[in-house]
Amino acid sequence: MSTSVLDLFNIGIGPSSSHTVGPMRAARDFIENVEKAGNLPKTVRVVTKLYGSLGATGRGHGSDTAVLLGLLGACPRGVDVEAIPDMIADIRVRKNISILGKQDIHFEEETDLQLLPRERLDFHPNGMEFWAYAECGEELARAIYYSIGGGFIVTEHEAEMDHFEEEVVKHPYPFTSAQELLERCGETDRPISWVMLENEKVTHSEEHIRTSLLEIWEVMKECVQRGCSRGGVMPGLKVKRRAAELYKQLSTKAEAALTDPLTILDWVNLYALAVNEENAVGGRVVTAPTNGAAGIVPAVLHYYANFVPGANDDGIVRFLLTAGAVGRLFKENASISGAEVGCQGEVGSACSMAAAGLAEVLGGTPEQVENAAEIAMEHNLGLTCDPIGGLVQVPCIERNAMASIKAINAARLALKGDGEHFVTLDKVIRTMRITGRDMQSKYKETAEGGLAVTVPIAATVVDC
Ligand code: SF4
Repeated sequence: MSTSVLDLFNIGIGPSSSHTVGPMRAARDFIENVEKAGNLPKTVRVVTKLYGSLGATGRGHGSDTAVLLGLLGACPRGVDVEAIPDMIADIRVRKNISILGKQDIHFEEETDLQLLPRERLDFHPNGMEFWAYAECGEELARAIYYSIGGGFIVTEHEAEMDHFEEEVVKHPYPFTSAQELLERCGETDRPISWVMLENEKVTHSEEHIRTSLLEIWEVMKECVQRGCSRGGVMPGLKVKRRAAELYKQLSTKAEAALTDPLTILDWVNLYALAVNEENAVGGRVVTAPTNGAAGIVPAVLHYYANFVPGANDDGIVRFLLTAGAVGRLFKENASISGAEVGCQGEVGSACSMAAAGLAEVLGGTPEQVENAAEIAMEHNLGLTCDPIGGLVQVPCIERNAMASIKAINAARLALKGDGEHFVTLDKVIRTMRITGRDMQSKYKETAEGGLAVTVPIAATVVDC
């Protein structure tokens, strides 16, 4: 398997890549297959079951809404975020859904969209099953999908076939581990971003890659701007949004930076809070590499763009390519799914990716970049997933701010050394995988452990 940087960073909607983006893609894929088989006109009922983690935190993460949007034919990248509440209200009020916008069918939410937290499919905790029926109850189609993190989905067939081997792309500079990546850099005397770019050029032109990465950067900037301009409380936990107020403080007291050199940290915190607050309310974000951890790479990129002398678009592209190379290692050798390995897979991976990207654009050697990625992950090992109320708000939003600062510190620590270090990135990735396997499921996106249990919520959870 070779995950593209354009898959790791993709434009979608909040609040969760595995629980919102993945289910939306799966529902749309299912219903498109029904249409391809010529069965859309015969379909009178569609039933969806969400298992395991999707069943446990699906409402808080908007999985139910995402499935309905997917059945309507919407996609995470293109859906009009502002129109979503009206689209969903229309389905619920009329008890009718227009599948792919072409075929009106009756929709009974209680029976047609079931969340089953106690049932689980074998391959992954985020399982989904879809059925399409004709008039007399005849089954027209049935399919199982898994949302494996970062918005990626696999079908039951792909899971059984080990599709990772099926879709091998021949790269000129192949790597499956950090060690191999360093070897490719050593053989060519080139940085990690160059190796990644040359491999990406097998499937896309250099111009397309650059344009797409800069578009991703634009969406990140727009997301920060929106987050800085919107106050109020977030639905569900009724937690106050902080980014807008913090932005006001920082921009009206710019002179504070003259007496407090750590003001830069306030700005980094701001960027992360802004993105994750937007994510929590279902706004447009860049999955990086998941939505729960969507604030870290943009926050560190903003730090680079706004505070590092000489920052430019070339640096942005190199940052994202390097971060993508590290993200690939986590996705292919461990997991970026909180439901599979806990928050270390989401926030930990994003922290490591951001540290690597920053270390490279600050002039780090490949060894220093690998060291930065390793430091950032090493100190996220064991991080559990325990979202209060099953919502991507607490601890997720603040956790992104903390991890952004950690990523910058990891890059700085690595750049002060010569690249030699005791624990390798490969060892840390392996440790993350093993730790995640040993972690009890209550700490893996089920909202059944940690803060999700010790902090009671007064209000009934409502969808983001
Ligand atoms: S705690 Fe971490 S893994 Fe869990 S939902 Fe929040 S950001 Fe995602």
